[in-house]
Amino acid sequence: MQTPALADFRRVVVKVGSSLLVDSQAGGLKEAWLASLAADLAELHRDKRDLLIVSSGAIALGRAVLRLPAGPLKLEDSQAAAAVGQIALARTWTEALSRHGIIAGQVLVTLGDTEERRRYLNARSTIDTLLQWRAIPVINENDTVATNEIRYGDNDRLAARVATMVSADLLILLSDIDGLYEAPPEENVAARHVPSVARITPEIEAMAGAAPSELSRGGMQTKIEAARIVTNAGTHMVIGSGRRDHPLRAIAEGARCTWFLTAANPVTARKKWIAGALEPKGTLTIDAGAVAALRRGKSLLPAGVIGIDGAFARGDAVIIRGPDGAEVGRGLCAYDAEDAHKIRGRSSADIASLLGFSGRAEMVHRDDLVVSPQ
Ligand code: GLU
Repeated sequence: MQTPALADFRRVVVKVGSSLLVDSQAGGLKEAWLASLAADLAELHRDKRDLLIVSSGAIALGRAVLRLPAGPLKLEDSQAAAAVGQIALARTWTEALSRHGIIAGQVLVTLGDTEERRRYLNARSTIDTLLQWRAIPVINENDTVATNEIRYGDNDRLAARVATMVSADLLILLSDIDGLYEAPPEENVAARHVPSVARITPEIEAMAGAAPSELSRGGMQTKIEAARIVTNAGTHMVIGSGRRDHPLRAIAEGARCTWFLTAANPVTARKKWIAGALEPKGTLTIDAGAVAALRRGKSLLPAGVIGIDGAFARGDAVIIRGPDGAEVGRGLCAYDAEDAHKIRGRSSADIASLLGFSGRAEMVHRDDLVVSPQ
C-alpha cells in the first residue's frame, strides 16, 4: 500500500510524548533532542505549512523539578506537579522555536473546551488566529484544573480532537515506539511491524495490548483510538519514533512508522485548499506549449513562463494564465517574485547559475497545481 509523503500535508498536528521530552533518570528536559525536533518543525513551517504541537510533559517535568518519588501520583499531586512543569514546558517550547524565528502560543484546554459546542468554536477561533499569525500553538491539557471525571487523561486523544477541530490533514504521534506491531513487542520480540492500516478492525485493536509506560498515560490503545477519531474525520495519522534526533525528517525520509489512512484522499484535500482557500498573491502568464503541458498533468517549468505580476513569496498561491489571459489554473509558486523574474523563460538547468542556489526545477510543481476544468 502506498503511504503518503509528509510534503503533501498543509496543516499538521505533532504530538510529543512525555517520555521523549523528559529524561526521568537525569530529571530534566532532553534539550538536544528538542532542538532537533524544533529544527524539523521549522523546516515544515518555512514551506507555509500550518503547524500545531500537542506537548505532554507537564506532570513529568514538574515531578522532576520537585524531585517527587517515582510511582503513581495522587490526583492533587499530579495537578500541582503540572503547575510547576507546565511553566517550564512553555518556556522550553518558546525558546526552542524562537531560535528559528517562530513564535509559540500556549493553549491549555480542558475536556469541555472541545466537547461543548460554544467553547469548541471559541477555542477553534483562537487557534485559527494564532495560525493566521504564523505562530505555532503549543497545546496541552490544563492538568492543574482537570479533575478525574472531566479530563482527556491522555494526550493522544486530546491531539486527535485538536486535529479534527482545526481540520488538520495529518496528525503525527511521536512516540517511544516506531508504530504498531502485530503484538506488543515487549511481550513478543518476533511480532511484526505494521506499516499501514487502512481500516481499524477488531484485529487491529487487539494488536494494541495495554501497558502504557509510567511517564505517559497513553499506550497503543489510546493511539488507536486517536486514529479512529481522526480517520473518521478525514485526517491521516502516523505513529513514528521520537527516539532519534530529527524525528520528523526521519519520517519524511521513510523511517519505519505506521500510517493510519483516511478514506479521504489527502492530495484532494490539499488541492481543494490550493484551489479554494487561498488569496492568490500574483499571476504567472505562460506560453501555449506550457498550457498544453499543464493540461497533460505536467508541472510548470520556468521555460514556459512569459510574464510575472505581483509581489509574492515562495510558497504563495498564484493564478496561472495562458497567453490569451484566460485562467489555466492556480498553484503554489516555488520561487518568490524576484527570483521568478530572473529565471522566467530560461531552462531549469540554468537556475543555479542565474540565482546562485539550486532551487526546484519546477516553477510550480504539479503536486502544488490545480488546473481549471476546460
Ligand atoms: N497532559 C499530561 C502532561 O502534560 C500528559 C498526558 C499524556 O502523557 O498523554 O503531563
